[in-house]
This record gives sequence, structure tokens and C-alpha cells, in this order.
Amino acid sequence: MWRALSHIVVGILSGLGALSAGCTGISTQSEPVVVKRAQVQMGTLVKITAVAKSASVAQAAATAGFAEIRRLEEILSTWIRTSELSRVNAAAGILPVHVSLETLTVVQRAVQAAEMTDGGFNIAIGPAVDAWRVTEGQRIPTEAELEALRPLVDLMSVHVDVREQTIYLGKAGMRIDVGGIGKGYAADQAVEAVRKAGAVAGVVALSGDIKTFGRLPAGKMFPVGIQHPRQDGAVLAWIDLQDEAISTAGDYERFFERNGVRYHHILDPRTLQPARSCQSVTVIAREGVWADGLDTGIFVMGPERGMELVEQLPDVEAIIVDAGGRLLVSSGLKQRIRLP
Ligand code: ADP
Ligand code: MG
Repeated sequence: MWRALSHIVVGILSGLGALSAGCTGISTQSEPVVVKRAQVQMGTLVKITAVAKSASVAQAAATAGFAEIRRLEEILSTWIRTSELSRVNAAAGILPVHVSLETLTVVQRAVQAAEMTDGGFNIAIGPAVDAWRVTEGQRIPTEAELEALRPLVDLMSVHVDVREQTIYLGKAGMRIDVGGIGKGYAADQAVEAVRKAGAVAGVVALSGDIKTFGRLPAGKMFPVGIQHPRQDGAVLAWIDLQDEAISTAGDYERFFERNGVRYHHILDPRTLQPARSCQSVTVIAREGVWADGLDTGIFVMGPERGMELVEQLPDVEAIIVDAGGRLLVSSGLKQRIRLP
């Protein structure tokens, strides 16, 4: 996870000037300063915007945000052999592994997201994700190959012991993959770091996993554009956010085509094949960990059942593009989105 560069949401903070790898500060006596910086972390482009009373505070706040994401990457990335999650995976079927509260929290949220989405979200999907290797190999695993992996994609064998602070994967060969929820969690934690460092408002965007807090100078909310799933670079809809997170799961970023069929990186845990009923699912929630966990799970559930779930959850909204390209918008968003 976290290796492919992705750009789900475009156009964040349009109107604030061009984003550069350095920073842009606009300083007047009364106006707060806006600093924007970008770095590659967790295999994706991370952009942090910090609003503060001075340029030095805003810079320090952005630096604190990047440092927090780096810290979480060391713990959670399965591309880092020494990370806690890598150690949990290496000890599958052998023994429980003591982990940090952060790892425990992400895995607990993932298990909750699985319950909410009827198993559409499943962090035990790791072995199947590896079998597809959609980004690297462009190979289609055989049915027999997938059938052999099926017993390993077993959420009931993911044992989280809160008191002992351990995680144990009950079967040898199991692997958990937090690629579908970890970036949203990291956005939440980085926002807290930015806030604690003195920023009065800001945005942390790990590609399409975005968490905002407060408002821009002059009271403007943070505008976010949602990528059109079939028109490269085009915006599907605009939305203004304040103290909310947004996350998009789509079939258009990491995929390959074979004989007219699109194979992408979101798998249906039941079939272990790419989920077929949506082109993209965007979720807005208070916390990034929910926006990210739910977008992937709802993508698998499909537009009807997915939207039903969204309507039941307080403070959760969604924009779904179904397999036929039809746009579905949850009731709480209909008045809030702007179409281009
Ligand atoms: P991204 O922003 O990286 O596209 P998504 O939120 O769309 O992330 O999640 C996709 C990633 O989640 C995949 O790359 C894979 O690691 C993992 N994944 C794929 N299918 C599932 C699933 N059904 N449940 C949980 N995680 C999944
Ligand atoms: Mg997700």
C-alpha cells in the first residue's frame, strides 16, 4: 500500500495561488498568513496548508504535520519491513505482536468499518491485493489461485486485544492491509499536529484523503473539487468544507485494461475480484478515518446499499458515481455541492 502516486481530488484551495514545493506567504498586518507546502509521503503527494498569525508559526505548523505523517508511516506502512504492521503480518499464525495505540486504533476502526459495510471493507484482504499486484504486474490471478487465498481473507481471525495492546493474525499467510483507511487516519492525526503547533485553520491532503479544520482568512470555507472518474483532470463537483474530511475511492487511478475489462485496486472480499458496481465513491465525514474507511467499503457494497448506509449515519454524506456513470448524491449534500 501507499506506493502508487494518486490524485483523486483536484483543485483544492483554488483561488489561493499556485501550490509549490516551497511556500507562499501572504502577510498583512491584520490578515493571518497562509502557508502551503507539499511533499511525497506514504507513497503519495501530501499537501499541507496552515493558517496562522505569522509566517513562522504557519511554517512550524506545516512542518509538524509532515513530521506526524512520517511518524505514522514508520509504524503503519507495510512497505517498511520494520513497521509494526509488517511485524504483525510476519507473525501471522505464530504469535500476537505488541503495537502502539495508533496501530491498535487504525485496526479497530477498520474492523468497525467492516461491520458497518457488511464486510465490504476488509483489511484481511492483503494476500488478494498482492495476488493481483494491479499497479506492478498487471496480471490476472486464476480462480484456483484466488480460491486458495480465500481462507486467509478472514476478518474473524484478526484478533485485537485492547488490554494487552496486541494484534494477532490467527492463520499463517494472513496479511492486513490498511491501504484503504490509513491515509484518512494520518490526515486526522496530522491536522491535530498542525493545530497543536499553533495554526488557527488548515488542510492536510494525502492525495484524495483530505481533512480540513477552521476557515480561510476572510471566513471562506475550504473549497475541494472531486475528480471526475472518466474525464481526466475534470471536476465532477465542488464542495466547501469546514472541520470535515473528504475521501474518494475510485476505479480510475490504479487499473489496467484487458480485453475491454477494467481491473483496478479495490477488491470485493467475497469474490476477490475488482468490485464492479461503482466508478467512484466520495465520502464526507467528521473524521478522515471514517471518510477513508467508508469510501472503500461503500464502493464494494454498491450504490443502492451504500447510499442506504450513508443515509442512516449521522454526519456522513456521499457522492457516488455508479457503474453506468450515474451520479447519486446523499440528501445532506444536495444543497451543498456545485456542479461545474
Ligand atoms: P487510495 O486512496 O489509495 O486509492 P482507497 O481508499 O481507495 O485508497 O483504498 C484502496 C486500497 O485499499 C487498495 O490499494 C488496497 O490496499 C486496499 N483494499 C482493496 N480492497 C479493499 C477492501 N475490500 N477492503 C479494505 N481494503 C481494501
Ligand atoms: Mg478508503
